[in-house]
Amino acid sequence: MPRLCLILFGSPGSGKGTQAKLLKQSLGIAHISTGDMLRERVASGDEVGRAVASLMQAGELVPDETVNRLVEERIEQPDCENGFILDGYPRTVNQAKLLAELLVLRPIRTVVIHLVVDYNVIIARISGRRQCPTCGSLYGMTSSVPRVPGVCDKDGATLMVRDDDREEVVRERLRAYEQQTAPVLAYFKKSGIPCWDVPAADVAPQVIAKEIEGLVRKERGEAA
Ligand code: AMP
Repeated sequence: MPRLCLILFGSPGSGKGTQAKLLKQSLGIAHISTGDMLRERVASGDEVGRAVASLMQAGELVPDETVNRLVEERIEQPDCENGFILDGYPRTVNQAKLLAELLVLRPIRTVVIHLVVDYNVIIARISGRRQCPTCGSLYGMTSSVPRVPGVCDKDGATLMVRDDDREEVVRERLRAYEQQTAPVLAYFKKSGIPCWDVPAADVAPQVIAKEIEGLVRKERGEAA
């Protein structure tokens, strides 16, 4: 079976992270979230983290070279042998071009899933989102709801609003999406990569994941 590169595409709050976690299990491939990788670097206070912290806090994209390098190294890790899910990458046409160069060297099947969610739903979702300051788990108001309100299921820490989920930062993140990221979809389509629109509001995450799994298995030439 060919190695798989599953690109989860969609605006902040469209459910990429939730889907990636479900699909990682069902497809048995790695989950690569550039947002998580960058947050880890910021938390560790290393050189990369110090360079990107203020951009992330402002809701702006970090430089292409920084994320490209992280992804280039990450996809060489052993857990990516069967394939990987890209969550939050590529986010600019330049990143998409670098990814295409990386992948052309490898036998790999690339599929893009575009999670389509209405703008108003996005705003409502992000403003209700809470994160555990200890383990980083994300919770929502309608999906991934904590068992005890305001408390992390895994370690009991008090949940907080993620720094870049504050309203003014969310507006900037959505602006960055519209201006820099949305054009990436047209680039994928022009490159002939299979792209599927999947409606991702008002449907349970598990149902959406099943639909994506079916599409991916078909693209991979497997029975659904
Ligand atoms: P996310 O958790 O995917 O919404 O990412 C959080 C933040 O990390 C974004 O607002 C950006 O500042 C940064 N980031 C994550 N992925 C990328 C990327 N592919 N390119 C540029 N910046 C990114």
